[in-house]
Amino acid sequence: MDRKADLHCHSFFSDGSLSPTALVDMAVQMNVGGLSITDHDSIESFDEAYSYAIQKQVILLPGVEISAKFRNEQIHILGYCFEPHSASLLEFCQRHRARRESRNQLILEKLSRSGMTVTIEEVKQLSPHAATYGRPHIALAMVKRGYVEDVTSAFHRYLGEGKCCYVEGEKWTVQEAIDAIHASRGKAVVAHPQLIKTRSLVRDLLALPFDGLEAYYGSMTADVNRRWCAIAHECGLFVTGGSDFHGVAKPENRFGSSWTPETTFNLLHQHFLSL
Ligand code: AMP
Ligand code: ZN
Ligand code: FE
Ligand code: FE
Repeated sequence: MDRKADLHCHSFFSDGSLSPTALVDMAVQMNVGGLSITDHDSIESFDEAYSYAIQKQVILLPGVEISAKFRNEQIHILGYCFEPHSASLLEFCQRHRARRESRNQLILEKLSRSGMTVTIEEVKQLSPHAATYGRPHIALAMVKRGYVEDVTSAFHRYLGEGKCCYVEGEKWTVQEAIDAIHASRGKAVVAHPQLIKTRSLVRDLLALPFDGLEAYYGSMTADVNRRWCAIAHECGLFVTGGSDFHGVAKPENRFGSSWTPETTFNLLHQHFLSL
């Protein structure tokens, strides 16, 4: 493949601003030949975009991003090339969405106590395509109400970890997330490892049965990329990369700014074709 493969981006089925097919168009425009749409707790985007991607000669691989917990720290796990209609993975995503509903309610209550009224109806109205709702959607409603100037300040001032309206919510354990991905024949990859707080946490996390590590990520420097590639190599993990493009929710993550090495992409593609 002589074009890049961006294997981390979000559509409007989670907290991205573009439709799955618009992401395929973006891939064509940016000369990105391989793509995986990794929505949070949602695997719907693949079906939406698959035939369009074929028509546009973009190789689209199934993807998902799952928020999980490891020793009280939040870890994001990417799942790739699972069976696209896996009933067990679909149910796994749906159970987490239900938990998010309760957490969203608690966040809205905290906002209300801080003098900011936001209803779940307006949150949903602002993101009508979303299959799953979380803090980014609440942040958009706060911007709309004029409580904050943008999504980033909503996180910095109110919704981020340790801020007054933060609610942790229940999450899967990392092992449960890996098991769900493997049960649907997918590959489990540690997302943006540079966000993991300590080395000992990284070491213990990588002892779990992951398949890959996202050593290339939009905002990482080349030195940091190299360090994570070396760690992946030591642990026998393949290396992936992606931009974590969201559109308006995170304008600093530019589509196609990081990509997956050709060897991993081919391996994943072959695995997908063998499903
Ligand atoms: P949640 O899944 O509800 O906990 O929200 C987490 C999501 O919020 C992440 O996946 C990001 O997309 C987004 N997010 C986290 N921190 C920030 C931030 N500082 N600014 C904008 N978006 C953020
Ligand atoms: Zn996101
Ligand atoms: Fe993430
Ligand atoms: Fe992401």
